[in-house]
Amino acid sequence: MKTLRISNGRVIDPAQAVDQVTDLWIRGENILGVGPQPQLQADRVLDAAGKIVCPGLIDMHVHLREPGREEDETIATGTAAALAGGVTSVACMPNTEPALDNQAAAEFVYLQAARAGNANVFPVGAVTKGREGKELAEIGGLVEGGAVAFTDDGTPVVSAEIMRRALEYCRMFDKAVMNHCEDLELTRGGVMNEGYESMRLGLRGMPAAAEEVMVHRDITLAELTGGRLHILHVSTAGSVDLIRRARKRGVPVTGEACPHHFTLNDSSLRSFDSNFKMSPPLRTEADVQAIIDGLKDGTLDVIATDHAPHAPEKKMRELSEAPNGIIGLETLIPICVRSLIEPGHLTWPQLIEKLTVHPARILGIDRGTFRSGAIADVTIIDPSIEWTIDPSQFRSKSRNSPFAGWKVRGRAFATIVRGQVRYERGAA
Ligand SMILES: [Zn+2]
Ligand SMILES: [Zn+2]
Repeated sequence: MKTLRISNGRVIDPAQAVDQVTDLWIRGENILGVGPQPQLQADRVLDAAGKIVCPGLIDMHVHLREPGREEDETIATGTAAALAGGVTSVACMPNTEPALDNQAAAEFVYLQAARAGNANVFPVGAVTKGREGKELAEIGGLVEGGAVAFTDDGTPVVSAEIMRRALEYCRMFDKAVMNHCEDLELTRGGVMNEGYESMRLGLRGMPAAAEEVMVHRDITLAELTGGRLHILHVSTAGSVDLIRRARKRGVPVTGEACPHHFTLNDSSLRSFDSNFKMSPPLRTEADVQAIIDGLKDGTLDVIATDHAPHAPEKKMRELSEAPNGIIGLETLIPICVRSLIEPGHLTWPQLIEKLTVHPARILGIDRGTFRSGAIADVTIIDPSIEWTIDPSQFRSKSRNSPFAGWKVRGRAFATIVRGQVRYERGAA
């Protein structure tokens, strides 16, 4: 078996409280250990001086679009984008066509991911058949096929009764139900956050309350059932507060924040650029600050991108016609550096925790740490390199980034999956 030594990097493994400049050793597909190994001879040495070496980043909220919308993204292109962004594992959402709502569909994702040979992909199963909200999907079969969690993302689970049964049923398998919290009647026709900016622009708004009523409902149902609840893309101050208070009572709820929601606010819509249109929408600056506070005090456990590729011709339509969502895999690291590390909101170990051990725990996957024997998924980050975001250079099939042209700092230097260097900046 080949031995790889990653030398002299700042090795950060929050799961083991490691943060020191040292070596990381890999043998074959597994982590050998952290620290010098004077008796060992490496087959290859990767110099990581000045770089951060951390467990492979896990993005637990990604839309890969295959099957059904391969013009936007495929499992191969989405996972290539993941590697370029420093992400070794993604959890993919079930709003494909057809929906990922049965065992064979989950197995298809594993097959295509293995064929592509890029990042790991963990499928998230649909809560309801066809994501239609009427009948529970084949939860047991999906678990059998390797589904790691359940959601109807793209849309919420509208029925409280079905949400209750999903939480009860998933609890038997120790899987989380991840909900896109949105009262669709309150958001109907909305293109942006409802507030001063929407009034000023004369655009139909989506109120914060549309998210918060469902966060409140789901927390109540998690409390009733004891089922694990994960709130996707938390965007409002009120939602952060609801989750914070629920956790104090011991409710099994976790929360997720997306880089755009802690970086941009609803004034961006003054450009009428559809790359600022997503659901939930960009909120007010007070909401942005509340998300950051939620990340700081641990209320929001996870950072995930909600990578939502749309082919350029779709996103170029008028604001009211354009689909919701933006891509995020290849801008994850620099946007977190800019919004969280540089202002001093989070330390590197705190940030990495939300991108490794926490999502691994929620998904129940054996990733996110350098403990010896663990699968050797590793991200090497160059924290100080400056670059300009240019979506035309992305490996994603889509270009719908709101961060085009931004001058940023921090980027993946190398991405290692199962002990293999699958991506290196500058390499062909
Ligand atoms: Zn969603
Ligand atoms: Zn989503």
